[in-house]
Amino acid sequence: MMTTMITGEGLIEQEQQHLAHNYHPLPVVIESGDGAWVTDVDGRRYLDCLAAYSAVNFGHRHPMIIDAAVRQLGRVTLTSRAFHSDQLGPFSARLAALCGKEMVLPMNTGAEAVESGIKVARKWGHDVRGIAEPEIIVAGGNFHGRTITVISFSDDPEARAGFGPFTPGFVTVPYGDAEAVAAAVTDRTVAVLAEPIQGEAGVIVPPPDYLPGLRELCDRRRMLLICDEIQSGLGRTGATFASDHVGVVPDLYLLGKALGGGVVPVSAVVGDAEVLGVLQPGQHGSTFGGNPLAAAVGSCVVGLLESGEFQRRAAGLGVLLHDRLQALVGSGVTAVRGRGLWAGVDIDPAIGTGRAISERLLERGVLVKDTHGSTIRFAPPLVITAEEISFAVDQLAAVLPPH
Ligand SMILES: *Cc1c(COP(=O)(O)O)cnc(C)c1O
Repeated sequence: MMTTMITGEGLIEQEQQHLAHNYHPLPVVIESGDGAWVTDVDGRRYLDCLAAYSAVNFGHRHPMIIDAAVRQLGRVTLTSRAFHSDQLGPFSARLAALCGKEMVLPMNTGAEAVESGIKVARKWGHDVRGIAEPEIIVAGGNFHGRTITVISFSDDPEARAGFGPFTPGFVTVPYGDAEAVAAAVTDRTVAVLAEPIQGEAGVIVPPPDYLPGLRELCDRRRMLLICDEIQSGLGRTGATFASDHVGVVPDLYLLGKALGGGVVPVSAVVGDAEVLGVLQPGQHGSTFGGNPLAAAVGSCVVGLLESGEFQRRAAGLGVLLHDRLQALVGSGVTAVRGRGLWAGVDIDPAIGTGRAISERLLERGVLVKDTHGSTIRFAPPLVITAEEISFAVDQLAAVLPPH
């Protein structure tokens, strides 16, 4: 079977030579994955505590998701939206029901869902409210993807520098401050866009009155509340959506990552007909958006979430994860934030960078990734067990100085 033998180091060197350097991966070359575990080209196993930034919430190669994908691969994979497929209607109905909404706009990547949500909000502002130059309020420290429009309202210098000119029409206010949002509203404001918990910023949980405050404000000023649940949604925090924890229902849900079951990119904007209904034929689209393979996989993912089993698992195991991590505060860890199976762990800079800690955890068989210098993020697949969580935290404790 073997044609060429390239070592892990050789494969990393090949990437270094022929792949744009827009990422700085940890030095591990993964060959296979199963549940919460991955195996590298040398046969070493690692507990995956990143889960592809929550795109692998149901674990690597979840048997039902793989089965749905394989069955669909044997039927038809792409029709374009020029025709109907037997998969798209059931997927959209099922996803809309999960969200308690009427309509779905299927796209592929998260950034496309964000772009699409922005387009829908602007169109709604034009058509329904008669606003010529709609404005959208966003939060400081946000991460919504990498397209020009999306980075236009990022405040991360690395994400922006050298990529201008930028798309106008966005106003940034501090995250977690509903009053600052209220103060920024003008006659042109059509929407407020926020992550219910900020992921890339370091798993930042806002004050509990933040989203309810935005909901009340949007109702009072006739604006759309858009929640980017691309990373926080679909079970991660111990609920279907992170906004569920504070009883808030946005006008538009932006979904992605786990919606594709770790198999294919599937994203969506989900809302009621009075909002998504502003789109007419020819006004927006995507060749691959809602393709039969994506719809089959997405339907299966929604099916997995319908019973609430994964949400309950994340809630229960999340208590264990947070209890165990909190116990490390003061011994090399300065703070732990998050909810459910999602944690941002701030490493004392005197101990080492988030990158250095991630590399040491890699050597001990645990995969995590640093963000913003000194934070490491734990977001294991929701199929992880209590014993595996303990193993992961034990490895972190072992690379920190003794109590
Ligand atoms: C990952 C992410 C995105 C972008 O998703 P891509 O699929 O990488 O384009 C947008 N918003 C949030 C909150 C994310 O975590």
